[in-house]
Amino acid sequence: MNNEIKRELSAIVGAGWMLDTPNELHVYSYDATPLYQAMPDAVVMPASVEETAAILQVANRHRIPIVSRGSGTNLCGGTVPTEGGIVLVTNRLNDLHEIDEENLTATFGPGLITAELHAAVEAVGLFYPPDPGSMRISTMGGNVAECAGGMRGLKYGVTKDYIMGLQAVLPSGEVLRFGGKNAKDVAGYDITKLLVGSEGTLAVVTEVTAKLLPLPKAKQTLVAYYNDLTDAARTVQRVIAEKIIPATMEFLDAETMRVVEEFARIGLPLDMKAMLLIEQDGTDAQVEQDILRIAEICRREGATAVRTAETPEEGAKLMAARRAALSALARVKPTTILEDATVPRSHLAEMVEQVGVIAKKYDVQICTFGHAGDGNLHPTCMTDERDQDEIHRVELAFQEIFHAAIKLGGTITGEHGVGIAKAGYLDLKVGAGGIELMKRIKEAFDPHGIMNPGKMFAKDTRRRVVVNTHECGHKHG
Ligand SMILES: Cc1cc2nc3c(=O)[nH]c(=O)nc-3n(C[C@H](O)[C@H](O)[C@H](O)COP(=O)(O)OP(=O)(O)OC[C@H]3O[C@@H](n4cnc5c(N)ncnc54)[C@H](O)[C@@H]3O)c2cc1C
Repeated sequence: MNNEIKRELSAIVGAGWMLDTPNELHVYSYDATPLYQAMPDAVVMPASVEETAAILQVANRHRIPIVSRGSGTNLCGGTVPTEGGIVLVTNRLNDLHEIDEENLTATFGPGLITAELHAAVEAVGLFYPPDPGSMRISTMGGNVAECAGGMRGLKYGVTKDYIMGLQAVLPSGEVLRFGGKNAKDVAGYDITKLLVGSEGTLAVVTEVTAKLLPLPKAKQTLVAYYNDLTDAARTVQRVIAEKIIPATMEFLDAETMRVVEEFARIGLPLDMKAMLLIEQDGTDAQVEQDILRIAEICRREGATAVRTAETPEEGAKLMAARRAALSALARVKPTTILEDATVPRSHLAEMVEQVGVIAKKYDVQICTFGHAGDGNLHPTCMTDERDQDEIHRVELAFQEIFHAAIKLGGTITGEHGVGIAKAGYLDLKVGAGGIELMKRIKEAFDPHGIMNPGKMFAKDTRRRVVVNTHECGHKHG
């Protein structure tokens, strides 16, 4: 990118909001996904939709890649600028414009931090359920673009279930609005839903209107410990088969429990094979009744110990420890690769078993935890990117895990998105015809292919790649 273009960008956002020194660019060369890194040519931080549109016009005219970026916490390499270009950071577009208590909606900029939205709506007795583990850092724009899930997905669904309206800027600089506050709206194709989960490959989201719910009055947390992994998985199926839908049903295997205990010191037993962390919310009476029944089912299906948190603080501590699982595992070895193979929950036990068998076959260390109620597992491999032989075996193991998930009627990613990390596996889920159709949709939005190029659609490799490391220097694990 030449200096003339950089001057154009700088004139749009103002001095100080266009970064291009090597140190500054380095910061935006990677995200939370290990093994991927590439340098952008410039980083811009627009403060308005008008500035965003003007940046896109410059990029479109010069055919420069645009990588939208919130907080860079995605786990699919989605914000790595593999083809260089402009990283467009949305952090300044972080205003909470409105909480509409009559229509039960909130409208805000994409840079708003997820947990800040939670706090603001909860202060007036409302509730925005999607709660990715990264919610204290992740932005709502990133949540929308990845269709983020979280621990409350079982009862409340994921981001797409709450996004009612979007303002978005097309690569041409055209600013469009889709959806809005209407509870019902079938005017034409549902572009709002199409943009949710589009991973920055179609447009830049500049404003979001989300649906809110009344804040549940009560909640209770329960933990159940198991000597047998499959008993835990079967409990999940039984609870739901008995028509109870808990807000949260999380699964941790023995190794994850051990590492979380070392990290958080909350008194998890270290001689158990698995645990379920279950939370129910609702009215006092409903919560009490459900928690009693769930405890009964846990015991019946083989739990060796079942404990209900005595105070909300104890419950919150257990949930916080679960949220810290990835950070805890990341301390074990230099490189932590987390995936999110997902199956219909009736196949959860089978999938957990297969992950164990595959890890043994390839002699790699994989811990499994995840949103058991959604069949959404996070097999997490602790490895070392300097050991190329092991990295190769890790890659083969994950390839086999994705194939196993598909065979069980599942998917290659439940909530983390495709990005670069899973681009090579997309055809397993949607087939060649599906990919072709998606590419045609992309072309309609982005005829010059400048929006987050190299993501979603694989070029020619299934292997994880370390991009441009010679330019970037060694990165994280
Ligand atoms: C510890 C940890 C726990 C996590 N737990 C969960 C979890 O429980 N559930 C879950 O689903 N994910 C989880 N994630 C993954 C990640 O946090 C989510 O994908 C999150 O939505 C990313 O938000 P972000 O602001 O960091 O987006 P980024 O990583 O910056 O961007 C993500 C994608 O969105 C695009 N994008 C960002 N902003 C815009 C915009 N305004 N317009 C268009 N495209 C845009 C980017 O180009 C990129 O493709 C976790 C990650 C970590 C590190």
